[in-house]
Amino acid sequence: MPNFETRTFTSNYATLPEHFYSQINPTPLENAQLLHFNSAAANLIDIEPDHFENNTIAEYLCGNILPSQSKPIAAVYAGHQFGHYVAQLGDGRAISIGGITHNQQHWELQLKGAGPTPYSRNSDGRAVLRSSIREYLCSEAMHGLGIPTTRALSLVGSSQTVYRETIETAAVVMRISPSFIRFGSFEYFFYRGQANEVRTLADYVITHHFPELVEETNKYPLFLQQVITSTAKLMAHWQAIGFAHGVMNTDNMSILGLTLDYSPFGFLDNYDPEFICNHTDHAGRYAFDQQPDVAAWNLTRLAQALTPIISVEDAKSALSTYPAQFASTYINLMCAKLGINADKLAVPLIMQLLDLLKTNHVDYTIFMRQLAHFSSSPNATNETLRDLFIDRNAFDNWAERYKVTLNEQHSVDDVRAAQMNQVNPKYILRNYLAENAIVAAREHNDISEINTLMHLLQSPYDEHPEHETYAAAPPDWAKHISVSCSS
Ligand code: AMP
Ligand code: MG
Ligand code: MG
Repeated sequence: MPNFETRTFTSNYATLPEHFYSQINPTPLENAQLLHFNSAAANLIDIEPDHFENNTIAEYLCGNILPSQSKPIAAVYAGHQFGHYVAQLGDGRAISIGGITHNQQHWELQLKGAGPTPYSRNSDGRAVLRSSIREYLCSEAMHGLGIPTTRALSLVGSSQTVYRETIETAAVVMRISPSFIRFGSFEYFFYRGQANEVRTLADYVITHHFPELVEETNKYPLFLQQVITSTAKLMAHWQAIGFAHGVMNTDNMSILGLTLDYSPFGFLDNYDPEFICNHTDHAGRYAFDQQPDVAAWNLTRLAQALTPIISVEDAKSALSTYPAQFASTYINLMCAKLGINADKLAVPLIMQLLDLLKTNHVDYTIFMRQLAHFSSSPNATNETLRDLFIDRNAFDNWAERYKVTLNEQHSVDDVRAAQMNQVNPKYILRNYLAENAIVAAREHNDISEINTLMHLLQSPYDEHPEHETYAAAPPDWAKHISVSCSS
Protein backbone atom coordinates (compact mmCIF):
# COMPACT_ATOMS: atom_id res chain seq x y z
CA MET A 1 0.00 0.00 0.00
CA PRO A 2 1.25 3.50 -0.74
CA ASN A 3 1.85 6.16 1.88
CA PHE A 4 1.48 9.94 1.68
CA GLU A 5 4.78 10.30 -0.15
CA THR A 6 4.09 7.71 -2.81
CA ARG A 7 0.35 8.19 -3.35
CA THR A 8 -0.90 10.00 -6.45
CA PHE A 9 -2.74 13.22 -5.59
CA THR A 10 -5.01 15.02 -8.03
CA SER A 11 -7.12 17.96 -7.04
CA ASN A 12 -10.37 17.98 -8.99
CA TYR A 13 -11.66 21.10 -7.31
CA ALA A 14 -8.53 23.04 -8.20
CA THR A 15 -9.35 22.50 -11.89
CA LEU A 16 -12.15 25.06 -11.44
CA PRO A 17 -11.35 28.70 -12.29
CA GLU A 18 -9.17 30.43 -9.73
CA HIS A 19 -11.89 32.64 -8.27
CA PHE A 20 -13.61 29.52 -6.88
CA TYR A 21 -10.90 29.13 -4.25
CA SER A 22 -7.64 30.51 -2.88
CA GLN A 23 -4.33 28.76 -2.74
CA ILE A 24 -3.13 28.70 0.83
CA ASN A 25 -0.53 26.74 2.74
CA PRO A 26 -1.29 25.24 6.13
CA THR A 27 0.27 27.03 9.09
CA PRO A 28 2.78 24.84 10.96
CA LEU A 29 1.44 23.19 14.10
CA GLU A 30 3.66 22.91 17.19
CA ASN A 31 4.47 19.46 18.51
CA ALA A 32 2.00 17.59 16.36
CA GLN A 33 1.08 14.27 17.90
CA LEU A 34 -1.03 11.57 16.28
CA LEU A 35 -3.88 10.76 18.67
CA HIS A 36 -5.91 8.47 16.46
CA PHE A 37 -5.75 7.01 12.99
CA ASN A 38 -8.82 5.49 11.37
CA SER A 39 -7.79 2.45 9.36
CA ALA A 40 -11.32 2.01 7.98
CA ALA A 41 -11.14 5.44 6.33
CA ALA A 42 -7.52 4.87 5.28
CA ASN A 43 -8.61 1.78 3.36
CA LEU A 44 -10.98 3.95 1.30
CA ILE A 45 -8.04 5.91 -0.08
CA ASP A 46 -5.53 3.08 0.01
CA ILE A 47 -3.13 4.79 2.39
CA GLU A 48 -0.86 2.86 4.70
CA PRO A 49 0.33 4.60 7.83
CA ASP A 50 3.76 3.01 7.55
CA HIS A 51 5.82 5.64 9.30
CA PHE A 52 4.21 5.78 12.70
CA GLU A 53 7.49 5.29 14.56
CA ASN A 54 9.18 8.56 13.71
CA ASN A 55 6.02 10.66 13.90
CA THR A 56 6.25 11.61 10.19
CA ILE A 57 2.65 10.53 9.75
CA ALA A 58 1.46 13.19 12.20
CA GLU A 59 3.34 15.83 10.20
CA TYR A 60 1.40 14.85 7.08
CA LEU A 61 -1.91 14.59 8.87
CA CYS A 62 -1.75 18.11 10.27
CA GLY A 63 -0.34 19.77 7.16
CA ASN A 64 3.21 20.37 8.44
CA ILE A 65 4.40 18.31 5.47
CA LEU A 66 2.45 18.31 2.22
CA PRO A 67 2.54 15.47 -0.28
CA SER A 68 4.68 16.64 -3.19
CA GLN A 69 1.75 16.78 -5.64
CA SER A 70 -0.52 18.62 -3.25
CA LYS A 71 -2.06 21.94 -4.25
CA PRO A 72 -3.58 23.21 -1.01
CA ILE A 73 -6.68 25.38 -1.39
CA ALA A 74 -9.53 26.91 0.59
CA ALA A 75 -12.89 27.11 -1.21
CA VAL A 76 -15.03 30.23 -1.26
CA TYR A 77 -18.74 30.04 -0.47
CA ALA A 78 -21.54 32.07 1.10
CA GLY A 79 -24.64 31.03 2.99
CA HIS A 80 -27.77 31.76 4.96
CA GLN A 81 -26.81 31.72 8.63
CA PHE A 82 -29.79 31.58 10.99
CA GLY A 83 -31.93 32.88 8.15
CA HIS A 84 -29.70 35.81 7.18
CA TYR A 85 -27.67 35.87 4.01
CA VAL A 86 -23.91 36.27 4.50
CA ALA A 87 -22.30 37.10 1.17
CA GLN A 88 -18.79 35.96 1.93
CA LEU A 89 -17.87 32.88 3.91
CA GLY A 90 -15.56 30.10 2.79
CA ASP A 91 -13.20 27.55 4.27
CA GLY A 92 -12.15 29.68 7.22
CA ARG A 93 -10.32 26.85 8.90
CA ALA A 94 -10.31 24.07 6.35
CA ILE A 95 -7.65 23.48 3.72
CA SER A 96 -8.07 20.86 1.01
CA ILE A 97 -4.72 19.29 0.21
CA GLY A 98 -5.87 17.41 -2.89
CA GLY A 99 -7.68 14.26 -3.80
CA ILE A 100 -7.09 10.55 -4.10
CA THR A 101 -8.93 8.19 -6.41
CA HIS A 102 -9.30 4.58 -5.32
CA ASN A 103 -11.73 1.93 -6.60
CA GLN A 104 -13.20 4.52 -9.00
CA GLN A 105 -14.11 6.80 -6.13
CA HIS A 106 -12.48 10.20 -5.75
CA TRP A 107 -11.93 11.47 -2.21
CA GLU A 108 -10.94 15.00 -1.26
CA LEU A 109 -8.67 15.27 1.74
CA GLN A 110 -9.22 18.27 3.94
CA LEU A 111 -7.37 19.51 7.01
CA LYS A 112 -9.73 21.11 9.52
CA GLY A 113 -7.95 23.54 11.81
CA ALA A 114 -4.72 24.01 9.83
CA GLY A 115 -4.54 27.78 10.25
CA PRO A 116 -6.00 30.91 8.70
CA THR A 117 -7.16 31.28 5.12
CA PRO A 118 -8.43 34.34 3.23
CA TYR A 119 -11.90 33.39 4.54
CA SER A 120 -11.03 33.26 8.25
CA ARG A 121 -12.25 36.82 8.88
CA ASN A 122 -10.79 37.67 12.29
CA SER A 123 -10.51 34.10 13.53
CA ASP A 124 -7.42 31.97 13.92
CA GLY A 125 -8.25 29.14 11.53
CA ARG A 126 -7.74 26.63 14.31
CA ALA A 127 -9.98 24.06 15.92
CA VAL A 128 -9.66 23.12 19.59
CA LEU A 129 -8.98 19.56 20.68
CA ARG A 130 -12.44 19.34 22.27
CA SER A 131 -14.37 20.06 19.09
CA SER A 132 -11.95 18.02 16.96
CA ILE A 133 -12.56 14.94 19.11
CA ARG A 134 -16.30 15.51 18.73
CA GLU A 135 -16.15 15.79 14.94
CA TYR A 136 -13.79 12.83 14.67
CA LEU A 137 -15.95 10.54 16.78
CA CYS A 138 -19.29 11.70 15.45
CA SER A 139 -18.55 11.41 11.76
CA GLU A 140 -17.46 7.82 12.31
CA ALA A 141 -20.48 7.21 14.56
CA MET A 142 -22.80 8.40 11.80
CA HIS A 143 -21.08 6.16 9.31
CA GLY A 144 -21.37 3.25 11.72
CA LEU A 145 -25.09 3.95 11.98
CA GLY A 146 -25.41 3.83 8.21
CA ILE A 147 -26.08 7.57 7.81
CA PRO A 148 -24.40 9.47 4.95
CA THR A 149 -21.56 11.63 6.23
CA THR A 150 -18.11 13.00 5.55
CA ARG A 151 -15.50 10.67 7.05
CA ALA A 152 -12.56 11.28 9.37
CA LEU A 153 -9.12 9.85 8.70
CA SER A 154 -7.13 11.07 11.65
CA LEU A 155 -6.93 13.20 14.75
CA VAL A 156 -3.72 15.09 15.53
CA GLY A 157 -3.21 16.95 18.80
CA SER A 158 -0.60 19.57 19.60
CA SER A 159 0.89 21.80 22.27
CA GLN A 160 -0.20 24.90 20.37
CA THR A 161 -2.40 27.16 22.44
CA VAL A 162 -5.55 28.79 21.12
CA TYR A 163 -7.84 31.23 22.88
CA ARG A 164 -11.55 30.59 23.20
CA GLU A 165 -13.46 31.17 26.44
CA THR A 166 -10.31 29.78 28.06
CA ILE A 167 -6.91 28.71 26.77
CA GLU A 168 -7.06 25.39 24.95
CA THR A 169 -4.85 23.42 22.59
CA ALA A 170 -5.27 23.17 18.83
CA ALA A 171 -5.92 19.94 16.94
CA VAL A 172 -6.37 18.98 13.31
CA VAL A 173 -8.83 16.47 11.89
CA MET A 174 -8.14 15.18 8.39
CA ARG A 175 -11.56 14.64 6.91
CA ILE A 176 -12.32 13.02 3.60
CA SER A 177 -15.33 13.23 1.34
CA PRO A 178 -16.14 12.84 -2.35
CA SER A 179 -16.97 16.55 -2.17
CA PHE A 180 -17.20 19.38 0.36
CA ILE A 181 -19.35 21.55 -1.94
CA ARG A 182 -22.21 23.21 -0.08
CA PHE A 183 -25.53 24.82 -1.01
CA GLY A 184 -23.72 28.06 -0.14
CA SER A 185 -21.14 27.44 -2.86
CA PHE A 186 -23.91 28.08 -5.41
CA GLU A 187 -25.39 30.96 -3.44
CA TYR A 188 -22.06 32.79 -3.48
CA PHE A 189 -22.12 33.16 -7.26
CA PHE A 190 -25.87 33.61 -7.60
CA TYR A 191 -26.06 36.60 -5.26
CA ARG A 192 -23.10 38.22 -6.99
CA GLY A 193 -24.98 37.93 -10.27
CA GLN A 194 -22.43 35.51 -11.73
CA ALA A 195 -24.71 33.24 -13.75
CA ASN A 196 -21.83 31.73 -15.72
CA GLU A 197 -20.15 30.63 -12.52
CA VAL A 198 -23.37 29.02 -11.29
CA ARG A 199 -23.39 27.00 -14.51
CA THR A 200 -19.68 26.17 -14.23
CA LEU A 201 -20.14 24.88 -10.70
CA ALA A 202 -23.26 22.88 -11.65
CA ASP A 203 -21.40 21.36 -14.60
CA TYR A 204 -18.50 20.48 -12.32
CA VAL A 205 -20.79 18.78 -9.78
CA ILE A 206 -22.69 16.90 -12.48
CA THR A 207 -19.50 15.73 -14.21
CA HIS A 208 -17.86 14.51 -11.03
CA HIS A 209 -20.78 13.39 -8.91
CA PHE A 210 -23.75 12.75 -11.19
CA PRO A 211 -22.04 11.51 -14.38
CA GLU A 212 -25.23 9.70 -15.41
CA LEU A 213 -26.83 13.13 -15.97
CA VAL A 214 -24.14 14.58 -18.23
CA GLU A 215 -25.94 13.70 -21.48
CA GLU A 216 -29.45 14.58 -20.26
CA THR A 217 -31.06 17.62 -21.89
CA ASN A 218 -32.66 18.68 -18.60
CA LYS A 219 -29.62 17.84 -16.50
CA TYR A 220 -29.88 20.88 -14.21
CA PRO A 221 -33.42 20.19 -12.92
CA LEU A 222 -32.46 16.52 -12.58
CA PHE A 223 -29.42 17.51 -10.56
CA LEU A 224 -31.58 19.65 -8.25
CA GLN A 225 -33.97 16.71 -7.92
CA GLN A 226 -31.09 14.46 -6.84
CA VAL A 227 -30.02 16.91 -4.15
CA ILE A 228 -33.61 17.14 -2.91
CA THR A 229 -33.89 13.35 -2.75
CA SER A 230 -30.61 12.80 -0.93
CA THR A 231 -31.36 15.63 1.51
CA ALA A 232 -34.86 14.27 2.21
CA LYS A 233 -33.34 10.87 2.96
CA LEU A 234 -30.68 12.38 5.17
CA MET A 235 -33.31 14.22 7.20
CA ALA A 236 -35.32 11.02 7.58
CA HIS A 237 -32.21 9.28 8.94
CA TRP A 238 -31.44 12.10 11.38
CA GLN A 239 -35.02 12.11 12.69
CA ALA A 240 -35.23 8.33 12.98
CA ILE A 241 -31.93 7.98 14.83
CA GLY A 242 -32.45 11.07 17.00
CA PHE A 243 -29.61 13.26 15.73
CA ALA A 244 -29.67 17.05 15.96
CA HIS A 245 -27.11 18.87 13.81
CA GLY A 246 -27.35 22.22 15.53
CA VAL A 247 -26.24 24.63 12.77
CA MET A 248 -28.21 23.88 9.63
CA ASN A 249 -27.04 26.99 7.81
CA THR A 250 -26.94 26.63 4.03
CA ASP A 251 -23.13 26.71 4.15
CA ASN A 252 -23.26 23.51 6.21
CA MET A 253 -25.52 21.65 3.76
CA SER A 254 -23.72 19.16 1.53
CA ILE A 255 -24.59 19.05 -2.14
CA LEU A 256 -24.26 15.24 -1.84
CA GLY A 257 -26.69 14.93 1.07
CA LEU A 258 -23.94 14.09 3.56
CA THR A 259 -23.87 15.09 7.19
CA LEU A 260 -21.32 17.91 7.13
CA ASP A 261 -19.66 20.23 9.67
CA TYR A 262 -20.04 18.75 13.11
CA SER A 263 -20.21 21.49 15.65
CA PRO A 264 -22.70 21.62 18.54
CA PHE A 265 -24.54 18.45 17.44
CA GLY A 266 -26.32 16.18 19.88
CA PHE A 267 -28.13 12.86 20.00
CA LEU A 268 -31.42 12.71 21.85
CA ASP A 269 -31.30 11.16 25.29
CA ASN A 270 -34.93 11.44 26.43
CA TYR A 271 -37.24 11.71 23.45
CA ASP A 272 -37.71 15.47 23.29
CA PRO A 273 -38.77 16.80 19.89
CA GLU A 274 -38.00 20.37 20.96
CA PHE A 275 -34.41 19.52 21.86
CA ILE A 276 -31.97 22.34 21.03
CA CYS A 277 -28.37 21.18 21.08
CA ASN A 278 -26.77 24.56 20.38
CA HIS A 279 -27.06 26.79 23.43
CA THR A 280 -26.66 29.94 21.32
CA ASP A 281 -29.75 29.01 19.27
CA HIS A 282 -32.14 30.83 21.59
CA ALA A 283 -35.11 30.80 19.23
CA GLY A 284 -34.76 27.09 18.52
CA ARG A 285 -34.50 27.62 14.77
CA TYR A 286 -32.52 24.39 14.54
CA ALA A 287 -34.38 22.40 17.21
CA PHE A 288 -34.59 18.67 16.55
CA ASP A 289 -38.16 18.69 15.23
CA GLN A 290 -37.49 21.67 12.94
CA GLN A 291 -34.80 19.93 10.92
CA PRO A 292 -36.91 18.49 8.08
CA ASP A 293 -38.57 21.89 7.50
CA VAL A 294 -35.26 23.73 7.72
CA ALA A 295 -33.83 21.40 5.09
CA ALA A 296 -36.78 22.24 2.84
CA TRP A 297 -36.14 25.95 3.38
CA ASN A 298 -32.45 25.44 2.60
CA LEU A 299 -33.30 23.49 -0.55
CA THR A 300 -35.46 26.40 -1.63
CA ARG A 301 -32.42 28.68 -1.24
CA LEU A 302 -30.40 26.26 -3.38
CA ALA A 303 -33.14 26.10 -6.01
CA GLN A 304 -33.20 29.89 -6.10
CA ALA A 305 -29.44 29.99 -6.57
CA LEU A 306 -29.87 27.67 -9.54
CA THR A 307 -32.48 29.89 -11.27
CA PRO A 308 -29.90 31.18 -13.77
CA ILE A 309 -29.90 27.66 -15.22
CA ILE A 310 -33.30 26.25 -14.12
CA SER A 311 -36.77 27.64 -14.74
CA VAL A 312 -38.80 28.65 -11.71
CA GLU A 313 -41.41 26.08 -12.71
CA ASP A 314 -38.86 23.26 -12.77
CA ALA A 315 -37.47 24.40 -9.44
CA LYS A 316 -40.92 24.48 -7.87
CA SER A 317 -41.90 21.11 -9.21
CA ALA A 318 -38.68 19.52 -7.90
CA LEU A 319 -39.15 21.15 -4.48
CA SER A 320 -42.74 19.92 -4.30
CA THR A 321 -41.47 16.32 -4.12
CA TYR A 322 -39.59 16.91 -0.86
CA PRO A 323 -42.33 16.38 1.75
CA ALA A 324 -43.44 13.02 0.37
CA GLN A 325 -39.87 11.80 -0.08
CA PHE A 326 -39.00 12.75 3.48
CA ALA A 327 -42.19 11.24 4.91
CA SER A 328 -41.99 7.93 3.09
CA THR A 329 -38.33 7.39 4.02
CA TYR A 330 -38.96 8.38 7.63
CA ILE A 331 -41.99 6.09 7.94
CA ASN A 332 -40.06 3.17 6.45
CA LEU A 333 -37.18 3.73 8.85
CA MET A 334 -39.53 3.98 11.83
CA CYS A 335 -41.44 0.86 10.79
CA ALA A 336 -38.15 -1.02 10.63
CA LYS A 337 -37.31 0.24 14.12
CA LEU A 338 -40.64 -1.12 15.37
CA GLY A 339 -40.29 -4.30 13.33
CA ILE A 340 -43.57 -3.75 11.52
CA ASN A 341 -44.67 -3.45 7.91
CA ALA A 342 -45.64 -0.03 6.64
CA ASP A 343 -49.40 -0.52 6.39
CA LYS A 344 -52.14 1.91 7.38
CA LEU A 345 -51.96 1.03 11.07
CA ALA A 346 -48.27 1.81 11.21
CA VAL A 347 -48.33 5.62 11.21
CA PRO A 348 -50.78 6.08 14.11
CA LEU A 349 -48.87 3.43 16.08
CA ILE A 350 -45.58 5.29 15.58
CA MET A 351 -47.11 8.67 16.38
CA GLN A 352 -48.74 7.39 19.54
CA LEU A 353 -45.45 5.86 20.65
CA LEU A 354 -43.44 9.05 20.05
CA ASP A 355 -46.02 11.01 21.99
CA LEU A 356 -45.75 8.57 24.90
CA LEU A 357 -41.95 8.65 24.86
CA LYS A 358 -42.10 12.43 24.98
CA THR A 359 -44.61 12.82 27.79
CA ASN A 360 -42.90 10.10 29.86
CA HIS A 361 -39.35 11.42 29.23
CA VAL A 362 -38.18 8.01 28.07
CA ASP A 363 -34.68 7.53 26.68
CA TYR A 364 -35.18 7.11 22.94
CA THR A 365 -32.23 4.84 22.14
CA ILE A 366 -32.64 2.63 25.21
CA PHE A 367 -36.36 2.16 24.57
CA MET A 368 -35.90 1.33 20.89
CA ARG A 369 -33.12 -1.17 21.59
CA GLN A 370 -35.17 -2.78 24.37
CA LEU A 371 -38.23 -3.02 22.13
CA ALA A 372 -36.62 -5.95 20.32
CA HIS A 373 -37.35 -7.99 23.48
CA PHE A 374 -41.07 -7.24 23.29
CA SER A 375 -43.16 -10.37 23.63
CA SER A 376 -46.31 -10.45 21.53
CA SER A 377 -47.89 -13.33 23.43
CA PRO A 378 -51.32 -12.46 24.86
CA ASN A 379 -50.39 -12.57 28.55
CA ALA A 380 -46.97 -10.91 28.32
CA THR A 381 -46.73 -7.70 30.35
CA ASN A 382 -43.30 -6.65 29.03
CA GLU A 383 -42.25 -5.36 32.46
CA THR A 384 -38.78 -4.10 31.52
CA LEU A 385 -40.19 -1.79 28.88
CA ARG A 386 -43.18 -0.90 31.03
CA ASP A 387 -40.89 0.23 33.83
CA LEU A 388 -39.41 2.91 31.58
CA PHE A 389 -42.73 4.80 31.72
CA ILE A 390 -44.25 6.97 34.41
CA ASP A 391 -47.73 6.34 33.04
CA ARG A 392 -47.82 2.53 32.93
CA ASN A 393 -51.43 2.38 31.80
CA ALA A 394 -50.60 4.46 28.77
CA PHE A 395 -47.80 2.04 27.93
CA ASP A 396 -50.13 -0.98 28.36
CA ASN A 397 -52.59 0.66 26.05
CA TRP A 398 -49.97 1.18 23.36
CA ALA A 399 -48.49 -2.30 23.89
CA GLU A 400 -51.93 -3.83 23.21
CA ARG A 401 -52.17 -2.00 19.90
CA TYR A 402 -48.61 -3.01 19.04
CA LYS A 403 -49.50 -6.66 19.78
CA VAL A 404 -52.53 -6.46 17.52
CA THR A 405 -50.40 -5.12 14.68
CA LEU A 406 -47.69 -7.74 15.20
CA ASN A 407 -50.24 -10.54 15.24
CA GLU A 408 -52.03 -9.25 12.17
CA GLN A 409 -48.69 -9.15 10.37
CA HIS A 410 -47.82 -12.70 11.57
CA SER A 411 -44.65 -11.37 13.14
CA VAL A 412 -42.43 -13.96 14.86
CA ASP A 413 -40.79 -12.56 18.02
CA ASP A 414 -37.28 -14.00 17.52
CA VAL A 415 -37.12 -13.18 13.84
CA ARG A 416 -38.33 -9.64 14.43
CA ALA A 417 -35.89 -9.12 17.33
CA ALA A 418 -32.89 -10.02 15.19
CA GLN A 419 -34.02 -7.61 12.45
CA MET A 420 -34.70 -4.80 14.92
CA ASN A 421 -31.22 -5.10 16.39
CA GLN A 422 -29.82 -4.24 12.97
CA VAL A 423 -31.58 -0.87 12.94
CA ASN A 424 -31.83 0.17 16.61
CA PRO A 425 -28.33 0.99 17.82
CA LYS A 426 -27.16 0.09 21.27
CA TYR A 427 -24.40 2.72 21.22
CA ILE A 428 -24.69 6.36 20.19
CA LEU A 429 -22.30 9.25 20.83
CA ARG A 430 -24.03 10.74 23.82
CA ASN A 431 -22.60 14.05 24.99
CA TYR A 432 -21.37 12.59 28.26
CA LEU A 433 -19.39 9.89 26.46
CA ALA A 434 -17.76 12.49 24.22
CA GLU A 435 -17.10 14.64 27.29
CA ASN A 436 -15.38 11.77 29.15
CA ALA A 437 -13.16 11.14 26.14
CA ILE A 438 -12.35 14.86 25.89
CA VAL A 439 -11.42 15.20 29.56
CA ALA A 440 -9.24 12.08 29.49
CA ALA A 441 -7.39 13.26 26.38
CA ARG A 442 -7.07 16.90 27.37
CA GLU A 443 -6.23 16.55 31.04
CA HIS A 444 -4.49 13.19 31.24
CA ASN A 445 -3.18 12.71 27.72
CA ASP A 446 -5.16 9.47 27.77
CA ILE A 447 -6.72 8.40 24.47
CA SER A 448 -8.10 5.08 25.68
CA GLU A 449 -11.64 6.49 25.79
CA ILE A 450 -11.34 7.62 22.18
CA ASN A 451 -10.18 4.13 21.25
CA THR A 452 -13.06 2.48 23.06
CA LEU A 453 -15.66 4.83 21.62
CA MET A 454 -14.36 4.39 18.08
CA HIS A 455 -14.64 0.64 18.50
CA LEU A 456 -18.21 0.80 19.78
CA LEU A 457 -19.44 3.50 17.41
CA GLN A 458 -18.09 1.78 14.34
CA SER A 459 -20.30 -1.22 15.13
CA PRO A 460 -23.13 0.30 17.18
CA TYR A 461 -25.63 -2.47 16.44
CA ASP A 462 -23.44 -5.14 18.05
CA GLU A 463 -23.90 -6.04 21.71
CA HIS A 464 -20.32 -5.50 23.00
CA PRO A 465 -21.30 -6.95 26.42
CA GLU A 466 -17.90 -5.96 27.85
CA HIS A 467 -18.84 -2.30 27.33
CA GLU A 468 -22.44 -2.36 28.58
CA THR A 469 -21.99 0.84 30.62
CA TYR A 470 -21.44 2.87 27.43
CA ALA A 471 -25.06 2.16 26.48
CA ALA A 472 -26.40 3.80 29.63
CA ALA A 473 -28.49 6.96 29.82
CA PRO A 474 -26.52 10.06 30.87
CA PRO A 475 -25.59 10.48 34.53
CA ASP A 476 -27.12 13.52 36.25
CA TRP A 477 -24.03 15.70 35.82
CA ALA A 478 -24.22 15.29 32.06
CA LYS A 479 -27.88 15.94 31.39
CA HIS A 480 -27.38 19.58 30.57
CA ILE A 481 -23.94 19.79 28.99
CA SER A 482 -24.14 22.79 26.73
CA VAL A 483 -22.35 23.01 23.45
CA SER A 484 -21.86 26.05 21.25
CA CYS A 485 -20.23 26.93 17.94
CA SER A 486 -17.17 28.48 19.62
CA SER A 487 -14.84 25.70 18.73
P1 AMP B 1 -19.39 27.03 11.23
O1 AMP B 1 -20.45 27.68 12.06
O2 AMP B 1 -18.43 26.20 12.02
O3 AMP B 1 -19.96 26.26 10.08
O4 AMP B 1 -18.49 28.19 10.63
C1 AMP B 1 -19.02 29.26 9.87
C2 AMP B 1 -17.90 29.98 9.18
O5 AMP B 1 -16.93 30.48 10.11
C3 AMP B 1 -17.12 29.10 8.21
O6 AMP B 1 -16.79 29.86 7.08
C4 AMP B 1 -15.91 28.70 9.02
O7 AMP B 1 -14.85 28.36 8.20
C5 AMP B 1 -15.65 29.97 9.84
N1 AMP B 1 -14.93 29.67 11.10
C6 AMP B 1 -15.42 29.08 12.21
N2 AMP B 1 -14.48 28.99 13.16
C7 AMP B 1 -13.35 29.52 12.65
C8 AMP B 1 -12.01 29.71 13.14
N3 AMP B 1 -11.63 29.33 14.35
N4 AMP B 1 -11.13 30.31 12.30
C9 AMP B 1 -11.49 30.72 11.07
N5 AMP B 1 -12.71 30.57 10.57
C10 AMP B 1 -13.65 29.98 11.33
MG1 MG C 1 -19.40 25.29 8.45
MG1 MG D 1 -16.55 -5.32 21.23
